[in-house]
Amino acid sequence: AETWDTVPLAPPDSIFKLTAAYKADPHPQKINLGVGAYRDDDSKPWVLPVVRKASHILLNDPALDHEYLPITGLPEFVSGAARLILGASSPALAEGRVVSVQTISGTGANHLGALFLSRYYHFNGEKVVYLSDPTWVNHFAIFRNVGIEPKTYPYYDPKTIGLDYAGFVKALEDAPERSVFLLHACAHNPTGVDPTEEQWAKVADVVLAKKHYAFFDTAYQGFASGDLDHDAKAVRYFVQRGVPMLVCQSFAKNAGLYGERVGALHLISPTKEAADRVRSQLSVLQRSEISNPPSYGARVVALILNTPELFEEWKADVHTMAGRIIEMRKELHRLLTEELHTPGNWDHIVKQIGMFSFTGITPEQSKALTERDHIYLTVNGRISMAGLNRSNIRYFAEALDRVVR
Ligand code: PMP
Repeated sequence: AETWDTVPLAPPDSIFKLTAAYKADPHPQKINLGVGAYRDDDSKPWVLPVVRKASHILLNDPALDHEYLPITGLPEFVSGAARLILGASSPALAEGRVVSVQTISGTGANHLGALFLSRYYHFNGEKVVYLSDPTWVNHFAIFRNVGIEPKTYPYYDPKTIGLDYAGFVKALEDAPERSVFLLHACAHNPTGVDPTEEQWAKVADVVLAKKHYAFFDTAYQGFASGDLDHDAKAVRYFVQRGVPMLVCQSFAKNAGLYGERVGALHLISPTKEAADRVRSQLSVLQRSEISNPPSYGARVVALILNTPELFEEWKADVHTMAGRIIEMRKELHRLLTEELHTPGNWDHIVKQIGMFSFTGITPEQSKALTERDHIYLTVNGRISMAGLNRSNIRYFAEALDRVVR
């Protein structure tokens, strides 16, 4: 027998496979709507002007070295990141109740948060996390990796192409007390469907009544509305209500720093004393996992967060990205409803929020778009709005129109 003969061959990652198929396709009008990364109006990756500027400042700083960061990360990055999501005037921050640790982007924050819960959370019986149906697929593997079994709660209603609010609330009510619920802070991936403020308030009521734990994932702050504060509302509201919670934060999308792996985990504790104990154990876990987080991207973001002029520029850049995506939603909706008179209701295209839109088309229709029209999207009908631009949106709308007729 060979050494690895019991290792089964795993299937390739579906998004990765999609990108490879797109790249191999010679068709001149091919479109990639699979990838969850921002593209400009020429379908090119966009280095944010403020990131270029901050990098330039850093690289010209003679004091810049390549020493290790502290285990919990660059202090001015983690404190700035905490203020960004929780609000500069957050009482939880002022009271020293927030533990913030720099992580390997949002994925690493989810992992470290899940690992911490698997070690220290008082689960009510089995270790279970409730994930929205559907959710970012990686959530399943991240929790399973640390011995927490994912279950799903109703979230998306295919009939309305919107939120299954009643199902969501019922799942919160029916789950055993002290259950862990993963919540997308804004711009839900993959559906683009978020609860309204009133719905969040009711969700918080039930979460509190049932003593559940809120595991917030925020990978798109600023991407949903174009306004960083607006997109943090649900998280800040839950902190204000005193919900036991943590927040996984990524700067991949809103700073365009995908490959630099800049993120943070923020855990809000009831007291400063509890926060100190939690911080000590998160440091122990982090030490064995990565020793120290990477410094370059964190320095770039720290400079932006802590320099008022750069922060203002960043807000404008975020607004540019969100604005282009919102424009594409409006234009797609206009083409389908006013020009092509495509059968069906397409209002969800403009109601949904963030990078992704759930079109509501069937897996067969998704496959037909790829095979016939060279438009690459996941079979669940999710499209990345960032893949659309002024040059390809009509081609896409016409193909979508044909496929649903
Ligand atoms: N959570 C969600 C919901 C996401 O969509 C993503 C990115 N696709 C992430 C977390 C983490 O991404 P990253 O590790 O690149 O920050």
